[in-house]
Amino acid sequence: MPESSPTMTLPTWDSLADRVLAGHELTRDEGLAVLNCPDDELLSLLAAVYRVRRHYFGHKVHLYYLKNAKSGLCPEDCGYCSQSVVSGAEIPRYAMLNEAKLMEGAEQAVAAQARTYCIVASGRGPSNREVDHIAKVVGRIKAEHGLHICCCLGLLSTEQAQRLKEAGVDRINHNLNTSRAFYDRICSTHSYQDRLDTLRVARDAGMELCSGLIVGMGETLADIVDVAFELKALDVQSIPVNFLTSIDGTPLEETHELNPRYCLKALCLFRLVHPSVEIRVSGGREVNLRSMQAMSLYAANSMFVSDYLTTKGQAAEDDFQMVRDLGFEIIVGDHDAARLLAGESVVTETNSGCSTTCEPCQASAN
Ligand code: SF4
Repeated sequence: MPESSPTMTLPTWDSLADRVLAGHELTRDEGLAVLNCPDDELLSLLAAVYRVRRHYFGHKVHLYYLKNAKSGLCPEDCGYCSQSVVSGAEIPRYAMLNEAKLMEGAEQAVAAQARTYCIVASGRGPSNREVDHIAKVVGRIKAEHGLHICCCLGLLSTEQAQRLKEAGVDRINHNLNTSRAFYDRICSTHSYQDRLDTLRVARDAGMELCSGLIVGMGETLADIVDVAFELKALDVQSIPVNFLTSIDGTPLEETHELNPRYCLKALCLFRLVHPSVEIRVSGGREVNLRSMQAMSLYAANSMFVSDYLTTKGQAAEDDFQMVRDLGFEIIVGDHDAARLLAGESVVTETNSGCSTTCEPCQASAN
């Protein structure tokens, strides 16, 4: 939320976007200025940021579909999380889903026009047996659906990361969640460095990195800027920007700091710091952006469709309608097309509804 951190005088948001498009890397002061943007300049900021988003992603929107493969039962104490041992939230609790359930999730992802199927498991980190189970199912999903696969399984060892890579996992999600300075305020059972280490082993194993944050946990604007720059240094491929949904029974149940305008400014910050990186408007979109959620796609180029891990999202048809109303277009299948272009062997079946208008699809069709 706006605070009395220093602001800077910028010529205009448009000229900042021009400079970013010309290769300028945002400074910390510029990042803080974005978060401190007066509400009456928000439309100007968003219009400028949209030019950057359009330059790199046109009107494309990528959808992600989440499957909570293992719910609750987690010994960690992340203050925002309903699945933590310190949470009294009433959520489903179950061990790792069997193959049939995970395959069912893949079919749901296809039906939801998702480009990426995210397999998420609660816990500090997976057992080797769980990794083997996921690896086996991922092989089947790739063969039958050709989906892009992202796994979020907690802290990983080098061997586990290599096993997942060999099985065909494309990407690992492991969010930084907040800044290094603020980290011990939201979690004491593992460290910020632990998170960085897992990102490193995932990258070393050859997988893409997805890492983001949760806005609205009591952090300062400087903490948000810190995360934006840390992710820049990590050179991640995808950044989920979550907005805290305060869940009854969690330590952060009384934390309600966000308004829709500030959420949009946070998305603008991430687009300007990471002009060509996938920015996903993620958990808490419906609750925190409310009537303004469509505007988030002027900065972000992807979003989750359907439900989150333990909270409900809006109906998939409402997401599709929102994208259509914006004049934007859901794109699926371009991960596979990109790999075909690179000469890799992939399953050629595409998701239903692939428009084949994205550049890699067009190229592979020619
Ligand atoms: S490690 Fe993951 S599942 Fe466990 S409390 Fe933290 S966020 Fe929740």
